[in-house]
Amino acid sequence: MKRLALPFAKTLKNFHPLKQYFFQNRWPLAIGLLSLLLVDFLQLLIPLVIKSAINLLTAQNPTVQILFQKGLTIFGIALLIALFRYIWRHLILGHSRKVEQNLRNRLFSHVQTLSPSFYQRTKTGDLMARAINDINAIRMATGIGLVALTDGTVLGVAAIGFMLSINVKLTLISLIPAPIIVIFTKIITRRLASGFESVQRTFSDLTERVREAFAGIRVIKAYGRESWEYDKIEEQGRHYVSVNMNLAKSLALFFPMMAIFTNLGLAIVIWLGGRLTILGDMTTGDFVAFISYLNLLTWPMMAMGWVTNLVQRGSASMRRINQILEEVPEIRDEDDAPSEDFYQIKGKIEIRALSYKYPGQNTNALKDLRLRIDPGETVALVGRVGSGKSTLLNAIPRLLDVPPASVFADDIDIREIPLKTLRGNIGFVTQETFLFSDTIRNNVVFGREGISDDELKSVLQTADIFEDVCTLDKGLETRLGERGMTLSGGQRQRLTIARAIVNSPPILILDDALSMVDTRTEERILSRILELRQNRTNLIVSHRASTIIRADRIFVLDQGELVEEGTHDELMDKGGLYTTLYKEQLIFQELEMGAM
Ligand code: ADP
Ligand code: MG
Repeated sequence: MKRLALPFAKTLKNFHPLKQYFFQNRWPLAIGLLSLLLVDFLQLLIPLVIKSAINLLTAQNPTVQILFQKGLTIFGIALLIALFRYIWRHLILGHSRKVEQNLRNRLFSHVQTLSPSFYQRTKTGDLMARAINDINAIRMATGIGLVALTDGTVLGVAAIGFMLSINVKLTLISLIPAPIIVIFTKIITRRLASGFESVQRTFSDLTERVREAFAGIRVIKAYGRESWEYDKIEEQGRHYVSVNMNLAKSLALFFPMMAIFTNLGLAIVIWLGGRLTILGDMTTGDFVAFISYLNLLTWPMMAMGWVTNLVQRGSASMRRINQILEEVPEIRDEDDAPSEDFYQIKGKIEIRALSYKYPGQNTNALKDLRLRIDPGETVALVGRVGSGKSTLLNAIPRLLDVPPASVFADDIDIREIPLKTLRGNIGFVTQETFLFSDTIRNNVVFGREGISDDELKSVLQTADIFEDVCTLDKGLETRLGERGMTLSGGQRQRLTIARAIVNSPPILILDDALSMVDTRTEERILSRILELRQNRTNLIVSHRASTIIRADRIFVLDQGELVEEGTHDELMDKGGLYTTLYKEQLIFQELEMGAM
């Protein structure tokens, strides 16, 4: 008993975070459940009316009028059942939709607080599954599951009660197939659920395949691989049919098998109950009422089997959702951090003995790094691939979980600056451009308020993308992405630069942000940016000599260590790593321009 009770308690405990939603909805929920009980009560009345009608028919001389009355009563009951059923469906299923919505919002707003490392550990597909399938399972458990549980219990207990009051022995015998029905339903509904899931999964695989085939059509054609691609789709399609057939088989099995078991009960009652009636131990009315109750019992028996599955699945889904809700963002405001008042940073950056190791790596990506950048300075970071440039740049807006007292902005430990303030003061552009399926305007403004069209125009000009935008029919309102305009890599980079400089942040970080534009354009954009941002801090990673040379100071990194610093001329005179990189053409010189 104890072993059974434990998992059950655990099953329910997973639903704990939903308590508040049940409480918020308590009145609609209570009225819904009351209506559900009323429907049950009314359903149980019907056999009683049938019984009295039949007893009238068999005993006295029935009059048409009395039968009409009985008929009217049944019709009245049916109307009331319809009314109350409408009410409970509306209120209880509505409640489950609200639970679904609240939980989804809570999950999404929580997931947005989590640190980049969480997204490195967690697959996007996994998150999608939780946001869609798991929340769906929870909705089922809290809606129709709750209904089936209440309804099944009340209707089942009451029907059995009435049957017992008619004839105890007959009741016990007619209930022999009941456990079989419960267990069989449980097995089949579980099979159906998993069958349904694999149908969905296979369908999304198929969709993804087809989508990819369309998206990659140029590559497929260029290599002449049409038939190879066709075979793959054909194969996926065949698989989809076969999982559907499996599901159809389980479904096809369910109702006929149910009919066999329920009719077995009926057969027993007709045979034994009929005998009792002939012998006069039971009235004809009781006999018919008994059969009606047995009929009513079919649903509660199936409900019991089904509901345990719904609740178990819902509980497993809740457990997975809870796991995410319990994730604590590694990077968050300290408990004693000042309130979220937004203040402007002047732009001084200091790194004091920063060592950083990525989770799960053996070596440090940054080793005891120390450097200082004054407000208004433009510095370039130089180093081979993997030398730690991006890691260092990511540390400044705290996209990495840096140790205390290692990174300072305006002499304040960045861990003590509210994240919103810190990141609001930094414009950050990386190599990877991300544009949303939205208009150009929204991609650049990005929800920030108080940005006039003139300002927007001016940042687009600075990023050298204004003319490109002007050639588009809808200009700033042109939609990008899947259902919109496709931009070239260079255009995308220029738009993301515009996004970063829109509110003239005190600190601008460009991590290889112009790799896809040509050298001359890079130079043009950079000149404009530097001119506009004369007293603001700029940190730039670039592979082009023309860009690097313009920096006030150059930091040279090697294997996570700062090995040299100075101006271009100073470093060239020194003849160290910088000179080597320059000679090895790892810093691109004017070649590109010569080639054009
Ligand atoms: P750079 O930008 O100079 O090319 P990075 O800062 O990207 O160098 O990388 C520095 C080191 O850290 C490299 O050895 C790289 O493999 C490692 N590294 C970078 N990002 C990650 C990550 N997310 N997880 C684990 N190791 C990483
Ligand atoms: Mg990098």
